[in-house]
Parts: sequence; C-alpha cells; structure tokens
Amino acid sequence: MYIDTHSHLSEFSSDGRQSAAELLAAAAKKRLAGICTTDHFEYGVFYHPGREEVFSLDEYFKLLLPLRRQQAHGRPRLLIGIELGYMPAQCERYALLAKSFDFDSIIMSLHLFDGDDPYVDDSIYKVGKKAVYRRYLERLNEMITVCPDHDIVGHFDYVSRYAPYDDRKMYYRELPEAFDQFFKTLIEHHKALEINTGTVEKMMDLGYEGSDAWPDKDIMDAYYRLGGRLISLGSDAHFPDQVGRYFQETASWLKDLGFRHLTHYEKRQPVQTRLS
Ligand SMILES: [Zn+2]
Ligand SMILES: [Zn+2]
Repeated sequence: MYIDTHSHLSEFSSDGRQSAAELLAAAAKKRLAGICTTDHFEYGVFYHPGREEVFSLDEYFKLLLPLRRQQAHGRPRLLIGIELGYMPAQCERYALLAKSFDFDSIIMSLHLFDGDDPYVDDSIYKVGKKAVYRRYLERLNEMITVCPDHDIVGHFDYVSRYAPYDDRKMYYRELPEAFDQFFKTLIEHHKALEINTGTVEKMMDLGYEGSDAWPDKDIMDAYYRLGGRLISLGSDAHFPDQVGRYFQETASWLKDLGFRHLTHYEKRQPVQTRLS
C-alpha cells in the first residue's frame, strides 16, 4: 500500500487536469493508502502571460481540509502539500508560507534555473549534456541550503526529461562528484529523494526499456552508500490515470537496490513504511 506524494489539481495548478474528487477516486482505484496534493506554487514565475504560478492558499485549505478530515481514518487518506519552485530570492516568503499553513509535506523543485526553463528554452542545452546536468545538480545542491524549508527534493532528473541529446538519461559515471555532493547535502539536511514516476513514464515513451526507464542504478547505489534512506514515491499526476503510476514496479526496483522503506510526510514529519 503506497502513498503517492506528488500530484496536481485542476483548481490550483495551471496544468492540472483533475479535481480533488477525481484524484481521490483515482487513488482509491489504484488501492493507494494515501495521496498528497502538491500544487505548483512559484512566486515571480509566469508560464502563461498574466498568470503568476501561485494560488490562494486560503482557498486551497478551504477545499482540502474537510477532505483531509473526512479521509483521516479511511482509504485513501488525503494529505495536503505543495510543490514550491526554487527561486533564491523567494526563500523568506516560502518560509513564511510554510509556517502559516498546516501542510503535511513540502516538495521543492527546480523548474527554472538562473531564469532559464529546461522545458521550453532549447539554448540551455548547447553547452553539452555534462555541463547542463552538472549545473542542474549544483543548483539542487544549493537549493537545499539556501531555501531549506522543504521535506522532499522533487524530480532530481527533471532536466533529463526534455534534453535534446540522443541518450538523455542521467548517469552517475558522467558526474560522480556532482551527484556525491548533492547527496551529501541532501542526507545532511534530512531531505527525501523523490523517485518521480512521471520521469519514468517519460523515459519509457522515449524508448528506454525495462529498468533503463528508471534512474541509473549507480546513482541510487551512490545515494545508498552515502547513507541515504529517505525515498518518497511521487507520480506527479496531472491526470487521474497517472495517479500511482508504476508504483509496484518502482517498489520492486527499490527493493532490489537494497532499500527497505518509503517515506512520506504528515504534519511535516517523516513517516516510514516498509516496502512490501
Ligand atoms: Zn515539478
Ligand atoms: Zn509536480
């Protein structure tokens, strides 16, 4: 029984395509123990002209608190989180927001780095795979200490989803120092590493087969070797049929790598469940 730690709603994320009721129904269908909403919240970011990527947190909690209460003793449980977009200048505002609302879980993600968007801005890839991926890992490393008010680092492999290289997958052997540094910081600050099954599905769509669609084994071995044990499992579902995608397969893959627990957060505290 899994808890999906990463999902988006149509009411609050501009790219979300499911209501809270649809999300809960999808989680029930997948027999999840719980699901956490983590809508996009990024101060100063405009993916669509005139719409800052933020929403009313009062409205958010007004909608979700009764559902969290209603589901507290049933299945699937509903947890309330948020996906903050790392912006160095916004950390104080993010810290205030984290304190002011009753979140279960906070993901911090790097969607833009130094103002560039890996999703739309092709020019960032011209410097070559290693240079771009190193830059991405260095920014993630910086994010953990500069903007520490979060629980989970979202999709560390996000940059590989849209990169134009023939083999766009991230490999430990290409950037061992950058991975080690990122993991040391992550572990020292007790943040969870998210395995984002949205990236897994994307890699499958690109033709990566079998376990190649999952992150490089050497990356996971390095995380484990350095002491990393906090792993969250997030589908990054924007549509109901994406909820809990590939969780069973990912759990088996993690067990083969030696991991024994998954971690989610309730009231900002880590809760571990044994991988079955
Ligand atoms: Zn994201
Ligand atoms: Zn997301």
